[in-house]
Amino acid sequence: MSRERLNKRVRELKPSGIRRFFELIIGRDDVISLGVGEPDFPVPWRIREEMIYSLEKGITSYTSNYGLLELREAIAEYYRRFEVDVSEENVLITTGVSEGIDLALRAVVNPGDTVIVPEPVYVSYSPLAYLTGAGVVTVSTCPGFKITYEDLVKYKDRNVKVLMLNYPNNPTGVSYTRKELEELADAVLELDCLVISDEIYAELSYSFKHVSIASLNGMEDRTIILNGFSKGFAMTGMRVGYAIAPDDILEGMVKIHQYSMLCAPVTAQVGALEALRNGEDELEMMRAEYIRRRNFFIRRLREMFDVVMPDGAFYAFPDVSSTGLSGMEFAERLLMEKNVAVVPGDAFGECGANHVRCAYAVSMEKLRLAVDRMKEFVESL
Ligand code: PLP
Repeated sequence: MSRERLNKRVRELKPSGIRRFFELIIGRDDVISLGVGEPDFPVPWRIREEMIYSLEKGITSYTSNYGLLELREAIAEYYRRFEVDVSEENVLITTGVSEGIDLALRAVVNPGDTVIVPEPVYVSYSPLAYLTGAGVVTVSTCPGFKITYEDLVKYKDRNVKVLMLNYPNNPTGVSYTRKELEELADAVLELDCLVISDEIYAELSYSFKHVSIASLNGMEDRTIILNGFSKGFAMTGMRVGYAIAPDDILEGMVKIHQYSMLCAPVTAQVGALEALRNGEDELEMMRAEYIRRRNFFIRRLREMFDVVMPDGAFYAFPDVSSTGLSGMEFAERLLMEKNVAVVPGDAFGECGANHVRCAYAVSMEKLRLAVDRMKEFVESL
């Protein structure tokens, strides 16, 4: 074929900075990895049992495009704890939050629209927004990692269609209080745009109770909430998440989902239902352990670096510039010299270049060892 075979925007996509770095440690058992954004707990046993039992009963067919009705009802009920009052008709079960991000963007963005992505942030937002034909505007939130009203209203004349928000945030762990979200909601109203609100770490909020921006005045009709089971319930490989959206947007998302995915995996949907019905104790146990690790880890990191206290999730994002190294140099040398893997901060946006992301989703024992080695490394510089 003489023409370019790949789509122009696909050609322009850069490989994920996380993936590139992790190819270096595949098969190396000697490395302590604080790199992977994945719970180190197994899927709670009662959830696994429910999935196994469903297979024994032969529940293996497609579900409705929207997902299992009982699960959608349970999610609508569950989100009332975050003061979002919706019915199951506004819930779509997706193949992880990853699919939800893609669907939400494709359902609402026209080529030429602007999508605002505050950085540092989860790696998929800008590439997926870019593939819709959008103009992607990344806005630095360094050093405090929170976007503000003033940051946003500057883009009033830029045909902004979507603001991407993620709180608690990957990679920084910071989240927004109700008051901060109220200010963001004012900006959203001024920009007259929509919000894609990725709340995948909502259950892992430690500093204060999670507030959904959709619960604020005037925001329910402008917000697409995304959440899932990968983080809170440690179900990463099950691939199940959900979107809660206003009627017209949910219908748009289903239009795509019915052709591209048909439905989320049924076994995972059964497990998700069990998680919501009976998983609270396990969730509480994991949350308590993350808090214990966070408090220990941040205290030790602060002996070496400036680090913002994470409000939730399981990440710390220290600024390593006091060592004279960039985040990339620090991560490479820490791996080579001390066998500890962290992710260079620029994987999450340029403004993260002086940082590294460390996931404390490992046992206390490994965390202690990793931070001791990090300290030896810093002292050797
Ligand atoms: N959104 C954020 C902020 C994440 O950190 C991740 C995974 O790391 C995802 C979405 C993807 O989640 P899922 O496993 O539900 O596709």
